[in-house]
Amino acid sequence: MSEPSIFTRILNGEIPSEIIAQTDTVFAIRDIAPQAAVHLLVIPKTAQYRDVTELAAGDPALLSEVVAVAKDLAAEHANGDFRLIFNTGAEAGQTVFHVHAHVLAGDLAESSMG
Ligand code: 5GP
Repeated sequence: MSEPSIFTRILNGEIPSEIIAQTDTVFAIRDIAPQAAVHLLVIPKTAQYRDVTELAAGDPALLSEVVAVAKDLAAEHANGDFRLIFNTGAEAGQTVFHVHAHVLAGDLAESSMG
């Protein structure tokens, strides 16, 4: 067995981070190093998918749930508009190989994520 991901450890309460929203299958936290006024992460509770391509192929309904939670959070934390980013692969900046969506909102002019 590989080590649990940092997000699994957060979900299990082993690493402190406030869970700001959750459903049966996904949860959301604030990014520890925000790149925008609002920078949240929406994460499937299962760690079985490394990236969004695996998630889309393996469980499209779960990917839809990630998008639905992102939409709700953008409405709650900003004006409803948001940028959704899935870094896919190390060379694209992915550092945690437990699929997660970055939700960026608020003033994106200074965002370093595209
Ligand atoms: P990636 O680079 O894989 O697309 O995104 C991983 C994200 O997780 C990064 O933006 C990073 O700042 C965030 N992150 C890494 N460790 C922690 C942590 O312990 N707590 C929180 N809240 N975010 C983390």
